[in-house]
Amino acid sequence: MSTGHLTIDLAAIAANWRALNALTGCETAAVIKADAYGLGTERVAKALAKQGVRTFYVAMSEEGAALRAAVGDKAQIRVLTGHMRGDTDIIADLNLTPILNSVDQINRHFETLPDQPFGLQLDTGMNRLGLEWDDWAAVAEATLRRKPVVVMSHLACADEPDHPMNPYQLDVFHQMTDGITTPRSLAATGGILLGPDYHFDECRPGIGLYGGLPFDDARPVVRLDLPVVQIRNLTAGEVVGYGNSWQAERPTRLATVAAGYADGLHRTLSRGSALFHGDTPCPLVGRVSMDLITVDITDLRDDPASLAIICGPQPVDRLAQSAGTIGYEFLTGLGHRYSRRYVG
Ligand SMILES: *Cc1c(COP(=O)(O)O)cnc(C)c1O
Repeated sequence: MSTGHLTIDLAAIAANWRALNALTGCETAAVIKADAYGLGTERVAKALAKQGVRTFYVAMSEEGAALRAAVGDKAQIRVLTGHMRGDTDIIADLNLTPILNSVDQINRHFETLPDQPFGLQLDTGMNRLGLEWDDWAAVAEATLRRKPVVVMSHLACADEPDHPMNPYQLDVFHQMTDGITTPRSLAATGGILLGPDYHFDECRPGIGLYGGLPFDDARPVVRLDLPVVQIRNLTAGEVVGYGNSWQAERPTRLATVAAGYADGLHRTLSRGSALFHGDTPCPLVGRVSMDLITVDITDLRDDPASLAIICGPQPVDRLAQSAGTIGYEFLTGLGHRYSRRYVG
């Protein structure tokens, strides 16, 4: 078998949820949009439901189908993009709870599914999703009378604890919602770490569950091992890969492993990344191609059967950083060719 092996530690996901939950005195939901950040909705949702998670967030109604099948009828499944045109049937059939983001969505929801639970999202300065001041002022009374399950907003800079945007958005959220009796939610992973002022009635972490920053204390969740397909010796001066972008300066032992940018291992990793044999880093050399990566293993004592690219010494955020991106993008971009093993 020449596919890479992705190992996903469900016990670590559960432990990360418990650790984040322990930081708050309020309810802690779980965000499992984008196939649980690439790690598999069904297995992740089941593991979290076992911990007592009752509220799950997805981005789109269609993501609710796999989730509903995994967690059964009792869990609440909230849809962050709200009630889009064409979503009415799926919302009703799967008993989803759309988070309404605009006056249009509110009207659509009340006209088509007046008895279906809903939540509301307010925009407190990120300018991405949610009702703005004027719209909220116009519809607040009428919508609150229909008892939304939550009124929420989202922080734009919560991964930077000292960013002035955090207290600014907190203040706007207070001004928009103080005095209402509906449960309120502002914090995702970063917001939880900003402290209790940001917690309100419910927190909704995503990335922290999956072992990603800004949750520094997270237990790592993902390991990715890539099988070595071939090993060869190069003399000094020989070149490697597309564009001949790397040239051996010494006699070199070179391993070719089976994964590439089609598996979410960005071409931008071609400069300055490493794969690991145990704790020993082996430099990635030459360009990452679609299905293959070349690695300088000259300094290893033995020929490895596989090399790890996400592992203890190189957690997903470190790898993402060498690719010029963030852990979120790396996880959600992991390809579908890996064999997956769930542990814990
Ligand atoms: C993605 C998302 C979350 C989860 O954010 P993390 O940073 O992954 O914890 C929470 N709320 C909203 C509105 C989101 O879009």
